[in-house]
Amino acid sequence: MKNITLLGATGSIGIQTLDVIRQHKDLFNLYALSFGRNVDKAVPIINEFNPKKIVVQDQETKKKLELYVRNQDILVGSEGMIEISIDTYTDVLVNAVMGSVGLQATLQAIQNKKQIAIANKETLVTAGHLVMEAARIHNVTLLPVDSEHSAIFQCLNGENQKEVNKIIITASGGSFRDKSREELQDVTVEDALNHPNWSMGSKITIDSATMMNKGLEVIEAHWLFDVPYDQIDVVLHKESVIHSMVEFNDNSVIAQLGTPDMRVPIQYALTYPARLPLSNSKKLDLVEIGKLHFSQMDYVRFPCLKMAYDAGREGGTLPTVLNAANEVAVDLFLQGKMSFVSIEKLIGQALEQHVTIPNPDLETILGVDRQTRLEVESYFNKDLVNKI
Ligand code: NDP
Ligand code: MG
Repeated sequence: MKNITLLGATGSIGIQTLDVIRQHKDLFNLYALSFGRNVDKAVPIINEFNPKKIVVQDQETKKKLELYVRNQDILVGSEGMIEISIDTYTDVLVNAVMGSVGLQATLQAIQNKKQIAIANKETLVTAGHLVMEAARIHNVTLLPVDSEHSAIFQCLNGENQKEVNKIIITASGGSFRDKSREELQDVTVEDALNHPNWSMGSKITIDSATMMNKGLEVIEAHWLFDVPYDQIDVVLHKESVIHSMVEFNDNSVIAQLGTPDMRVPIQYALTYPARLPLSNSKKLDLVEIGKLHFSQMDYVRFPCLKMAYDAGREGGTLPTVLNAANEVAVDLFLQGKMSFVSIEKLIGQALEQHVTIPNPDLETILGVDRQTRLEVESYFNKDLVNKI
């Protein structure tokens, strides 16, 4: 029986992780969980799973939750997330929080040799070198939850990285795949949240529409699999049936396929190297699908992907800026304060202004993350974008 600590329990990945735990009660126990402020969503989860410890984002949420919860410790903020992640009773940490706020808990869990299933890609984008260095030193394997990275992990199957020609990450194209750049000018938040293949949290759904999600995934793949950027390709594949592929040095290509269901990679990260049945998951019917389509990625149409490759290649603090600027810009768009195309403008501005600091330590990364958020807010306030 493994004790699971789940960061981001009320989110899209969090809820699907709970379903995996529910299906395998003989293997997993939810020991602790964290969420932000969504008490209404958290209370039924707490009642069902009865975790020993709970972490919320702020004191106000703690007060609200105390009206419903009697038997558990309620902790607060980043320190709380760290505390449950390194708790002696935590066997596995599932990091499904949204944003770089998950970084310190991940780092400390690695230092405490916890098994880690990581969905929280922003952590790897903002400080991949620190996370992977800690994983190497403490001999911890990060098991990917992101479907593309789970696919790559499965295709590699422990193969020697030297035999890899390239990693091919597939991209569905997001909500606006078939729109031209001109047509993007007046799309709404509602349009952007309408993803054709996957049902996900709002931030990642917007990231998919800007193609920043694929950019973050390229950086995530670079760190997880230690493959240079020149050997990571992205192809458009609108059906989302092939979750990603690896081409080897004999030109053999191995792909992983499945219906779009995040519970599959979540479960694999929890049960690896074993595979277990998963009830209510849909089988892939290739005859019914008939055709799969692939096309070349257009970096002019999707400038966020280009910005991510450039930031990843430059390294240092630039990916931290990319990530923090993106988090703020997406939030401004989701709040209905600015247009969709303003997202890429704010990120571009932040990257342009930044003087990269090579090989940053944790303190530098946290400082640049904070500073970037303030700067992007100030570009917004100075009317550098189309406000609504
Ligand atoms: P959601 O927005 O659905 O959920 C985010 C979770 O994090 C919620 O529990 C939320 O709490 C909590 N949270 C948000 N901000 C904070 C904060 N500042 N402090 C503490 N907790 C916070 O996100 P997703 O589940 O979609 O995504 C989570 C991560 O997984 C992201 O990194 C995403 O890129 C990655 N991922 C997601 C996929 C998906 O299918 N959804 C696929 C692949 C990767 P509350 O509900 O209270 O706000
Ligand atoms: Mg993905």
